[in-house]
Amino acid sequence: MQHDAIIGNRTGLFINGAWREASDGGRFEVTDPATETVIATVADGTLDDAKAAMDAAAAALPAWSARSPRDRGEILRKAYELMLAQEDRFATLITLENGKSLTDARGELRYAAEFFRWFGEEGVRNLGQLSMAPASGARMVVQHKAAGVAVLITPWNFPAAMGTRKIAPAIAAGCTCVLKPASETPLTMLAIAELLTEAGVPAGVVNILPSRKSGAVVSQMLHDPRARVVSFTGSTEVGRQLLREAADCVINPRMELGGNAPFIVFEDADIDAAVEGAMIAKMRNMGEACTAANRFYVHEAVHDAFAEKFAAAMGALKVGNGLEPGVAVGPLVNESALKKVERFVEDAVARGAKVLTGGKRTSHNAGHFFEPTVLTEVPDDAECLRDEIFGPVAPIQRFTSESAVIDAANSTEYGLAAYIYTGDLKRGLRLCEQLEFGMVGLNRGLISDPAAPFGGVKQSGLGREGAHDGLMEFLETQYVATNW
Ligand code: NAP
Repeated sequence: MQHDAIIGNRTGLFINGAWREASDGGRFEVTDPATETVIATVADGTLDDAKAAMDAAAAALPAWSARSPRDRGEILRKAYELMLAQEDRFATLITLENGKSLTDARGELRYAAEFFRWFGEEGVRNLGQLSMAPASGARMVVQHKAAGVAVLITPWNFPAAMGTRKIAPAIAAGCTCVLKPASETPLTMLAIAELLTEAGVPAGVVNILPSRKSGAVVSQMLHDPRARVVSFTGSTEVGRQLLREAADCVINPRMELGGNAPFIVFEDADIDAAVEGAMIAKMRNMGEACTAANRFYVHEAVHDAFAEKFAAAMGALKVGNGLEPGVAVGPLVNESALKKVERFVEDAVARGAKVLTGGKRTSHNAGHFFEPTVLTEVPDDAECLRDEIFGPVAPIQRFTSESAVIDAANSTEYGLAAYIYTGDLKRGLRLCEQLEFGMVGLNRGLISDPAAPFGGVKQSGLGREGAHDGLMEFLETQYVATNW
């Protein structure tokens, strides 16, 4: 498929059901990280455009929140079907602007579409409560109402799924929204806006506002008294900033932030299964995932066997342009992401780590490619154990004591995802309880599921996305006291 046919004319701001240029005519470039060529320019939303988007969302709110939940659910179901029917086009678009392999992009597309189906179904299960006040005998009627206009902000690593994970529950709940996509990858979300219109979402219910002036534009929208929810997925650093702003406005913040996931392999684990799980937990999206395994702890008794098999599997992955057949590992999103990963490896090696496989940039002429890398004998003070690597690098440490490895796993400010491999389920469940993480993969390398409550503890975030919890994030509780 030609790039132009895939991107089409969907490069403006999508406000009130129509495409428009930025108020000052500004545009910014979107680059293919595999070739470093510009694939499109996109309208660069201004403060005036942000106000127009909020106006549109506020105007659409009364009618949309009054529609029946089933009605909204049918539209979401249609969006799910339309998205799956255009898998090739969407997957290619995701690969073009993000770099991930087509296999990864197809996986993301199906995951992203499933949020429309799940929340279309879940939106009709907005249950209230009726009870009698214990002392007075008055009746207490509790209902959950659409919270209002939602401001949604998404990162570049899952250009489709991070958006649908917010839009689907928001509109299923009866909210309207303005979404600001990451400037690295705005095209997928603009294509989804068009798809939602085709599915029957009325003008103004979903507005997409690409902008390079993210701080100013988001800040203005948060300070708009009509904004009732802010839902952000991205780095902990920006999350902290938005939390401060949300405090000023007393607006409900939902935060999906960074991670530093431990992957623990016990001596009684099935090593082949652990390697298979490690490949998924580390390499989905080239390691550019908040749930990516960041630190591997392997019991002394199985360390060498695991490391050898894991390095062989990592070394066998084909690196290249994600659009080419057979490629499993695409480029990192930009040069600074590549430099960061390179620095982590140099730092670990300088402190004594050994490179089992990979360890450097590839020899491609263009693009931000890094070899899938496994490091052993990584010392405690290596930077890659403390920070989010966000790339295809797996540092391994040995352990002998169960309690010491749980302490090591918990010794981070993050608390998003963790993984345990053990042949003893009872032991695994006991240890899951001791892990300070919002999600644990027990003998599984893949944890994300639209039907599961996704989210972190500690500095990995506030609130949950997916499951019924995800719907509740866009509802406010109202209680009516009455008698009859
Ligand atoms: P980021 O730099 O925090 O950016 C995320 C979004 O916030 C982008 O749309 C960005 O816009 C916008 N933004 C940047 N500065 C802002 C500001 N001052 N005010 C308001 N918005 C601002 O994160 P990223 O590099 O795109 O994504 C990677 C991070 O996301 C990682 O830390 C990863 O762990 C995290 N993540 C978490 C989850 C989760 O569910 N917990 C899922 C995926 C990713 P611009 O692009 O225009 O700068």
